[in-house]
Amino acid sequence: MSQVPETPLPLLDHIKRRIALSGPISIADFMNEALAHPEYGYYRKQDPFGRAGDFITAPEVSQMFGELIGLWAAVSWQQMGCPPKIDLIELGPGRGTLMADALRAVRNVPGFGDALTVRFVETSPVLRTHQQTAIMASGIPATWHEAFDNIPVRADVPAIIIGNEFFDALPIRQFERGDHGWSERLVGVDADSGELGFVRGRETPVTDALIPATLRGSAKKGDIFESCAPAIAIADQVARRLNETHGAALFIDYGHPSSAFGDTLQALKGHEYHPVLRDPGDADLTAHVDFAAIARAMNEAGARTGAVLTQGTFLRMLGIEQRAELLKTGADEQQAVAIDQALARLVDADQMGTLFKVLIGYGRETTPPPCVSGVAG
Ligand code: SAH
Repeated sequence: MSQVPETPLPLLDHIKRRIALSGPISIADFMNEALAHPEYGYYRKQDPFGRAGDFITAPEVSQMFGELIGLWAAVSWQQMGCPPKIDLIELGPGRGTLMADALRAVRNVPGFGDALTVRFVETSPVLRTHQQTAIMASGIPATWHEAFDNIPVRADVPAIIIGNEFFDALPIRQFERGDHGWSERLVGVDADSGELGFVRGRETPVTDALIPATLRGSAKKGDIFESCAPAIAIADQVARRLNETHGAALFIDYGHPSSAFGDTLQALKGHEYHPVLRDPGDADLTAHVDFAAIARAMNEAGARTGAVLTQGTFLRMLGIEQRAELLKTGADEQQAVAIDQALARLVDADQMGTLFKVLIGYGRETTPPPCVSGVAG
C-alpha cells in the first residue's frame, strides 16, 4: 500500500521558501511568521486559550486574578485623586476574561466606572470578538487598537496600562557566544533532511552592544543571550505615556527579574512542550521576559518602576487568600475544592507563584500605585 504523503503546512512551506530565497532568518522573523502571519499566524487564526487550547493563563484559572487587578487599578485611580476620566488600557487581552472580571469587581467603587474608557491593544480579529462579548455586560465603552502607540493621548486623562502574558509572545533574537564574539542563532533548512533547524550566523563583535554591561564580562563560550526589541520599544512608549498622563502600569509575565544567559524559547501545543520549529502557526511560541531590560527601558524614558515581585507575593498583598475564603462561603464542597486548587495554582511556588513576575511602572509625578515596594528605579 502506498503511503499518502501528508499535506505540508502552508506556513512551513512559506518559511522554507523564504529561507531558500534569501538564506537563514532570525528567530524573531520565525516567531513573527509563526505567531503573526496575517493568514496562518497562531494568534491570527485561532483561539488558543483555555483547557481545550494549548495553554491556560492566570485569568482563565480563576476569576480572582482579574478581580484583584481591577482593585489594583481602582486604588491606583483613587491615589491619582479620582480623575473624572481615565483610560484603562490592556495589551494582549486574550479572551477578555481579565478585563471582564476586573470591571465586575470594581463596579461598586464610587465614580470609577463612570470615569472609565477601556482600550484594548489586540491584533487578532477572533480574539477581539471574544473581548467584546466578555465585557458587554459591564456597559463600559471600549475601543480596539492595532498597536499601543495608536491610542490617542487625551489631555488630563491618565492611563492605567495592564498586560498579562503579553511581552512573552513578542519576537526575540538569540545571540550565542563564540571564540571571538557573538553570532546570531538563525533558522535555516537542513540540506539533508529538508527540515528547519538552527544555524549560526557569522561571529561579530558588533552585537556586544546588545549585551547588558553587567553580563558582558562573564560570558562563556556557548552562552545564549536573548533580546526582545519590540518589548523594549513598547516599554519605552508606555513609560512616555505614564510621564505624560501621570499614569500607572502593571505587567505580569513569566520571566526573570535580572538579565541572564539562557535559551528560553519554548513551544506549547495541547498543554505539552513541543519542538519549537516543528509546527509554525499551530503551536504557541514564547520566551521568558527579561524584566530588568523592560524596567531599564522604562527608567531610561524617565518613568519609575517598583522592585520586581513574584506573582504569589503580589496576589497575596492584594488579598487573594481572603478573596478565596469569601468565595468559599457561598460555595458547595466541590466548588470549594476548585477554589483552593485555583488559589494554589496562582500563588504556590511550585506552580505559577514564583515563575511569574510582576513589574509596576508609574510616571515620575504619579503617586506610587499599590504594591510598589522597594522602588528600584
Ligand atoms: N492576556 C491574555 C492573553 C495572553 S496571550 C491572558 O492572560 O489570557 C497574548 C495576547 O497578546 C493575545 O491576545 C494575542 O493575540 C496578543 N498579541 C500577540 N502579539 C501581539 C501584538 N504584537 N500586538 C498586540 N497584541 C498581540
